[in-house]
Amino acid sequence: MKILLVQLESSFPHAKFLQKKLSEEFGMETMVHPGIVKIPNGFFNLRKHKWDAEKIISMLREHFSNTREGKFLVLGLCLEDIFADSLNFVYGLGEKNGNFGVVSGFRLNPTFYNESFDLRLFETRALKESTHEIGHMLNLDHCKNKRCVMSFSPNIIFVDRKEEKFCQKCKYLL
Ligand SMILES: [Zn+2]
Ligand SMILES: [Zn+2]
Repeated sequence: MKILLVQLESSFPHAKFLQKKLSEEFGMETMVHPGIVKIPNGFFNLRKHKWDAEKIISMLREHFSNTREGKFLVLGLCLEDIFADSLNFVYGLGEKNGNFGVVSGFRLNPTFYNESFDLRLFETRALKESTHEIGHMLNLDHCKNKRCVMSFSPNIIFVDRKEEKFCQKCKYLL
């Protein structure tokens, strides 16, 4: 199994950083897809004023399911604000025991909270959310351990509180 990072709509500032870190964490060859995949305008939900994460995942499945280079965990990276189901917004969405997921940097950027830009903080948050979604794709559920990367994050305080690593229990289940 390999990990394929796909930049959606525009280049993602930390794709290279994520490539290196995810490769180390999961022990899988990790690549950044050359080229950028457009998100169709129709995926924008006018009522929620956000992009539909499930539609983005369906699109990734259509684009990459026929890839011949073996099996990939495909993680889309975008800077658009996304939602899923009844949740008003999500940092990301990953198929449980599936091959596709997406992470949004929109609410990971400190400037979203009227704080000054902090590259380190942004990339650490992006790494946590990417690791979390890949964890779902590898069949992990949410973890009750608030320090664990698989704990659910309803807001940015929870993202910052958790570590970028799996707890012992989740690590064992991987
Ligand atoms: Zn989750
Ligand atoms: Zn855990």
